[in-house]
Amino acid sequence: MLRCVSCGKEYPSESVRHICECKEPLEMGLFSGKVRSGGSVWRRFRGFLPCQPSKKLSIFEGDTPGVKAKKLSKEFGVELVLKNETVNPTWSFKDRGTLLSLQRAMDIGVKKVGTVSTGNMGVSVSAYCKRAGLDPVVLVDHDISNEKLNQIAIYGGTVIKVSGDYGDLYYESLKIGKNKNIYFSNSNSPYRIEGYKTISFEIEERSLPDYVVIPTSSGGLFRGVLKGFVEMEKSGILDRMPVPICVQAEGCSPICRAFDSHEKKIKRWHDPDTIASAIANPYPPGGEEVLRKLDDHNGICTTVSNDEMISAQLKIASEGIFSQPASAVGVAAVEKLREKEEIEEGAEVVSIITGSGLKHLFPRPTEHLEFSCDISDLKDLFEKSRKDEIE
Ligand SMILES: *Cc1c(COP(=O)(O)O)cnc(C)c1O
Ligand SMILES: [Zn+2]
Repeated sequence: MLRCVSCGKEYPSESVRHICECKEPLEMGLFSGKVRSGGSVWRRFRGFLPCQPSKKLSIFEGDTPGVKAKKLSKEFGVELVLKNETVNPTWSFKDRGTLLSLQRAMDIGVKKVGTVSTGNMGVSVSAYCKRAGLDPVVLVDHDISNEKLNQIAIYGGTVIKVSGDYGDLYYESLKIGKNKNIYFSNSNSPYRIEGYKTISFEIEERSLPDYVVIPTSSGGLFRGVLKGFVEMEKSGILDRMPVPICVQAEGCSPICRAFDSHEKKIKRWHDPDTIASAIANPYPPGGEEVLRKLDDHNGICTTVSNDEMISAQLKIASEGIFSQPASAVGVAAVEKLREKEEIEEGAEVVSIITGSGLKHLFPRPTEHLEFSCDISDLKDLFEKSRKDEIE
């Protein structure tokens, strides 16, 4: 059964709808059960999943490491763990949701799959479509980065660059999907949310933190992670919930704006302006549900600027991980919240590093790193720098 998160209207689980008549997302009921030991993430948490992905489709999603960030923990005065989602098959956590959503599409005999994407989703859906032998249609934002476009291109499929309001594109895609019989695997699709849940189960397996930091755009990841923790609590696996922290980019933060002004409705963000394009949905379809969940779980909503995320990206790199700016917002938020004492000293914090920096390359000043010389001068160059060191 699919149920509207807002008005509660129910739809049969065979329905391919993502949203209710009232426009809010549909979600599956809460699962409860036992975690098995051993095997892949899809096996261990099978009891909590709506379908079992086939080996033919899976390319080993999830089971990502929680990396202790020793330097940053010391700097911020917390126990910080980076949940490294960059090691997923297409380098972002999206693969966890794409797998289940495409499995669903296969199970019901879908012939045509689409998605709406600022990049990472398009790459992920294209990869799994290709594996399943389907041709995807990917509606992307007109200013998508070349890295992401090239990554979609390797998988083939049809890319349509769309200018105009990215928030509206979601609703447009659902209409087109209905009329043209295209299964849209978008950010909010119910099966996708179920796939994202596995992140929380893996986090819990390692160690239940006090805070979980979630970069948020349309709200799919946030809702998935929360649903995972709620289901574990319901099943007696947890006896407390971590505090969820929703992080948005300052230049496009409709959820945090509503949160700060105690509003229940999301207002469209005009003229988004941020380098974190992966989390820049100006009219997030799951935004109101994120607000309700923040309320239910005493969550925190905070924004970070371009400069703060770029600086956080460097800090994350100092721990060995190359995160994209949209994923670095989490660590930037931890730093800010520690300064404001909203996170207490010594707290255990997991920040989800949602996607790889390779997907979003931009020039960095490298003068201080770079020397160049002819091979015949290389020896001299080293002699010289040795001398400099001695002097
Ligand atoms: C998709 C994405 C998110 C979060 O997206 P939601 O739309 O809120 O599910 C966060 N970071 C990155 C890098 C993403 O690609
Ligand atoms: Zn509804």
